Amino acid sequence: MSAPETSETFTFQAEINQLLSLIINTFYSNKEIFLRELISNASDACDKIRFLSLTDKTVLGEHPDLEIKITPDKANKTLTIQDSGIGMTKADLVNNLGTIARSGTKAFMEAIQAGADISMIGQFGVGFYSAFLVAHQVTVVSKHNDDEQYIWESSAGDSFTVHLDTTGERLGRGSKIILHMKDDQLEYLEESRIKELIKKHSEFISFPIKLMVEKTTEKEVEDEESAEKKPEEKPEDAEKPQVEDEKKPVEKKMKKVKEVTHELELINKQKALWMRKPEEVTKEEYTAFYKALSNDWEEHLAVKHFFFEGNLEFRAILFVPRRAPFDLFESRKKNNNLKLYVRRVLIMDNAEDMVPEYLNFIRGIIDSEDLPLNISREMLQQNKILKIIKKNVVKKVIELFEDIAANKDDFKKFYEAFSKNLKLGIHEDTDNRAKLANLLRYYSTKSGEEWTSLKEYTERMKPEQKSIYYITGESKAHVMSSPFLEKLKKKDYEVLFMTEPIDEYSVQQLREYEGKKLVCVSKEGLQLEEEEAEKKAFEDQKALNENLCKCIKDILGEKVEKVVVSNTLVDSPCCLVTGEYGWSANMERIMKAQALRDNSMFSYMASKKTMEINATHPIITELRRKSDADKNDKTVKDLVWLMYETALLTSGFTLEEPATFAKRIHRMMAFGLNLDIEPTPASAPADELPALETPAAAPAAEGAAAPAPAAAPETSMDSVD
Ligand code: ADP
Repeated sequence: MSAPETSETFTFQAEINQLLSLIINTFYSNKEIFLRELISNASDACDKIRFLSLTDKTVLGEHPDLEIKITPDKANKTLTIQDSGIGMTKADLVNNLGTIARSGTKAFMEAIQAGADISMIGQFGVGFYSAFLVAHQVTVVSKHNDDEQYIWESSAGDSFTVHLDTTGERLGRGSKIILHMKDDQLEYLEESRIKELIKKHSEFISFPIKLMVEKTTEKEVEDEESAEKKPEEKPEDAEKPQVEDEKKPVEKKMKKVKEVTHELELINKQKALWMRKPEEVTKEEYTAFYKALSNDWEEHLAVKHFFFEGNLEFRAILFVPRRAPFDLFESRKKNNNLKLYVRRVLIMDNAEDMVPEYLNFIRGIIDSEDLPLNISREMLQQNKILKIIKKNVVKKVIELFEDIAANKDDFKKFYEAFSKNLKLGIHEDTDNRAKLANLLRYYSTKSGEEWTSLKEYTERMKPEQKSIYYITGESKAHVMSSPFLEKLKKKDYEVLFMTEPIDEYSVQQLREYEGKKLVCVSKEGLQLEEEEAEKKAFEDQKALNENLCKCIKDILGEKVEKVVVSNTLVDSPCCLVTGEYGWSANMERIMKAQALRDNSMFSYMASKKTMEINATHPIITELRRKSDADKNDKTVKDLVWLMYETALLTSGFTLEEPATFAKRIHRMMAFGLNLDIEPTPASAPADELPALETPAAAPAAEGAAAPAPAAAPETSMDSVD
């Protein structure tokens, strides 16, 4: 379209000029986003006139149909995007498409320099210019109700022209963006490519998007050439009687011809699913929608579709998948899987911060009526509307979990996949902690092969029982046989098994459930409800074993903080408990396993162990007898070390030097079998096999107050008898 003489030339505002050269000169392969941007503008324009028509029907005039038409023209190498939206006046064309700077222009360029992707252009309110990714020249024909039809035109550079359009096709109302495609961008004139892009990016635009497609049909038509020839053939048959000729109908020769027609084909057939009433959407439709949204091959586990009305409006469809994605807790992946729409226009593909991290597995869409269309990610974080949306989305998601919990099989699947997320939620989400706590499930001393909820636990509590008891550890099998459970089992108190590393973190935040304290049975100060007689017996035992406790502490030195008489052990001779506020044995194990752990924490958080002895256990009573008789009895030392190392294992710690422990055991076995396998100085130097009674396992760095090494290793076991 060559500009007539009346055309005015305008200079692009400086930043827009820079933006254009950036768009044209940056090597960028993902150019396809231009179509999404232009369709989104067209949809905005339709939204605007639709909005005006709500109060004034006449604005629609003779063009009530709001739609977007896309016409590829291979012969002229143009792609036209036409809408029947609000259109632009001459002033709009001049201002909106070139002379008035937008705050997003600079921000976008800065973002690009900082490594952002050009595809984010729409979020900065300068999406129109993405047309220059694929076009060397752009023509905008526009008709606004308040003005004549005008043409804006530019080949980028630093200027554009605007002129009155007196001769072109009348639009009635709306805009027509004609892209004169670059020679290497002709793929965007292919029908299949355009369809693919619309489906990918603009499927849920709420106005019909129609593509001008070429239809080739075969048609039978009379072969005029042969019809014309017929009379010429006639002279050859002239001899034949005329009658016969009359009887036979004139045989018309037909031929097939290809007819090329153009027609508009509706591409976004699916009306935005979330705009429909939930009761009118079938399960199959949700499944199809979920699959398209998530690329999941399986159907979703549960869905919540709702419409929120109040100070603000939004609609959402939220899905819980059946499986956790493989990168669920990938620490660098901050995105979540929610798409944010503003009035049916996709604003963000994976909107960060739409839900807290622990819900990052939720898939779905949120469509807000109130957010501005050109909102950027940065603005989103501060946005008050979004905060309200977020709060309500989280509420609905938790309701969805509660729905799932109503079906045992579904909840099992859900919990297997996402229990860690719930527990992370307990840790992070103070507001919803109580609701999330209702969804927790654990195995317990009474749950058998099923999980129990905290609610079920409290319903089974003994009348006098005040706290909820739990034990943390590596696995169910590990904790089931723990010495810490002995007294609780005897009292018939249920103990929950917390065997996931994250339990250690979440239980610290949870602290209590329905007013009942959660108490770790492997930490010191475990107070079980006692009868008077029990209390008395316990005090007596404490007095009786005072010396033995001191003796054991002397032997073990810094390995233990103190040695006390236990009131929780029944069958085991001893156990090691940790401080109420320090790490549990299990937590120490978890921390040791963490590759990037901060070693400085170890010094003050690592478990300070208290050895609790079972004063009525035969081993302990015998030890007491021996140590009372002779404080320095070597057998006592040996046995105390063995007892300590065994208690490390049964209490859930790891052995610092398993080999030393193993050798102690082997010597014990040899002794039991009456074998003499003490190492000879030639085969194994004495210092390789620490004396049984020496705490050689204690590294000097830990400052273990090791008793003096025994003079000769073989002396010890001999005296066990
Ligand atoms: P955004 O749409 O994010 O505001 P754009 O750079 O895409 O930014 O568009 C700039 C402005 O040009 C729009 O705000 C709108 O006023 C106007 N505009 C663009 N396309 C159209 C259209 N098809 N119909 C009417 N106005 C349009």
